[in-house]
Amino acid sequence: MMATTHVLVAAGVASLTALAAPEHAPAAVAAAGLGGLFPDLDIYAGHRRTLHFPVYATGAALAALALAVTSTSAVTVAVAAFLIGAALHAALDALGGGLELRPWEGRSERAVYSHYHGRWLAPRRWIRYDGAPEDLLLASVAAVPTVLLVDGALPAVAAILGVSTVYVALRRRLAALWARLAEHLVPRLPPTLQHRVPERFVDAD
Ligand SMILES: [Zn+2]
Repeated sequence: MMATTHVLVAAGVASLTALAAPEHAPAAVAAAGLGGLFPDLDIYAGHRRTLHFPVYATGAALAALALAVTSTSAVTVAVAAFLIGAALHAALDALGGGLELRPWEGRSERAVYSHYHGRWLAPRRWIRYDGAPEDLLLASVAAVPTVLLVDGALPAVAAILGVSTVYVALRRRLAALWARLAEHLVPRLPPTLQHRVPERFVDAD
């Protein structure tokens, strides 16, 4: 799934805060959006493993949610929202495509690493790959509660959906461009750097 889908799904869930504690809704939505983005900071360092915790983050998010409900404050709500965003991200990655340069080919059996299970979870491919049309559909549907429940959210949501639409339109061409670039550039890199290029980026066949 696209990073923007993760942000909008997390924000959409957090926007439900407006029904119970409207004064905390904007902070919850912002924190959830950041939480939805956070796991992918591992993109160049053990992607979908280092910062992805499908099981543990879910446990932490549920505990934080219980605390936010019983002891509601700006801080407990924001922490719970952030963890819910991060947990949803890791869990949703298991429903997408595998970790490969062209995930629509469906050759990778690695969707996201579960530290709890001690192994990679296989991709379900409900969303075939990040940037697939159904990915944009999910992002658009997930955006609805945020727009309806949080005042002033529309411009940000529209901008995120705009960026997503461009990405979806270019997704396959970007992969082809990257494959060509990698083919030319990687052999010219010093050997120490060559080892640092993630395997999925140099799969040029
Ligand atoms: Zn991810």
